[in-house]
Amino acid sequence: MAIPDMSAARPLADRFGRQVTYLRLSVTDRCDLRCRYCMAEKMEFLPRREVLSLEEMRDIAEAFIARGVRRIRLTGGEPLVRRGVTGLARMIGRHLESGMLDELTMTTNATRLADHAAELADSGIRRVNVSLDTRHAETFRHITRWGDLDRTLEGIAAARAAGLRVKINMVALRGLNDSEIVPMMRWCASEGHDLTLIETMPLGQVEGDRQDRYLPLDAVQRELEDRFTLIPLIERTGGPARYWRIEELGLRLGLITPLTNNFCAGCNRVRVTASGKIYMCLGHDDHLDLKSALRTGGREALDGLLDEAMALKPERHQFAIHAAEPAVKRHMSVTGG
Ligand code: SAM
Ligand code: SF4
Repeated sequence: MAIPDMSAARPLADRFGRQVTYLRLSVTDRCDLRCRYCMAEKMEFLPRREVLSLEEMRDIAEAFIARGVRRIRLTGGEPLVRRGVTGLARMIGRHLESGMLDELTMTTNATRLADHAAELADSGIRRVNVSLDTRHAETFRHITRWGDLDRTLEGIAAARAAGLRVKINMVALRGLNDSEIVPMMRWCASEGHDLTLIETMPLGQVEGDRQDRYLPLDAVQRELEDRFTLIPLIERTGGPARYWRIEELGLRLGLITPLTNNFCAGCNRVRVTASGKIYMCLGHDDHLDLKSALRTGGREALDGLLDEAMALKPERHQFAIHAAEPAVKRHMSVTGG
């Protein structure tokens, strides 16, 4: 269905003049893995009745598109454990054809990608971000607690076969995968994938100490500069990633450094959870309930709440990895990566 274009008259802009053009929509908080930096082994997930239906998710996505959001990422939890998620991608993907949306992407652990890659490509998705912190089967099992590396690699291969571009997300973990960074760069270059390295963020309680595994990427960048030619790319995405081209490998490398570099001044995004809560900043607990607005007042109430959300978007996050408590209590899997 066509949606009204209100982006010029009523763009989503916050108190600091930043325009929100990017939405991360978490379709489930559940996951079939338990990556140690992301989740505790035993997790309490949302009761199903609290989770938005796929149609409600579509309505929310469309309310954002009508107000000028140009890029949407489906995430989670693991988006592909949500039954019918490819149908949601198809419903949102229609707005790519009409020109109201520039890009629809998905972040996935790829355990189920082999079964869904073709449908995702068909919905209009052109690129998937796949989490792959290591290419050693044992380390992979350790980090994910029970994941099977071969399955993830099969998922990645299926994505490429379906014509999807792949960006690998690798969380840098001191003493676990730091020695694999350069081999991962070489592998991605040879496979034609982009690579993004991510600093661990203090979100949600996990067993073990995240601080012990925290690897500041500014140090990694300096080491890479000794070995390779890093050409900075001007492209910014409005998020914490900065990009380089590694001349010797022909690799596009991103570094996500929320802790060593503050990126908030150019922030262009908000996040919506699977239960319809809008978070204006990954590093703050403030949120509003889009689900109740939609269920009680329909699309008009939803639209009004987007303005309230904009008025509440904070200027910056307050992450600190060395604090005793996580910066925010909810896990990354709730708000989506
Ligand atoms: N399950 C999907 C996946 O793993 O790609 C999508 C959701 S996951 C929360 C999205 C991204 O967030 C992944 O790349 C994951 O590695 C990253 N992530 C999760 N917890 C994190 C944390 N505490 N700090 C930094 N990155 C984290
Ligand atoms: Fe699941 Fe992704 Fe979190 Fe790993 S990082 S536990 S795959 S949501």
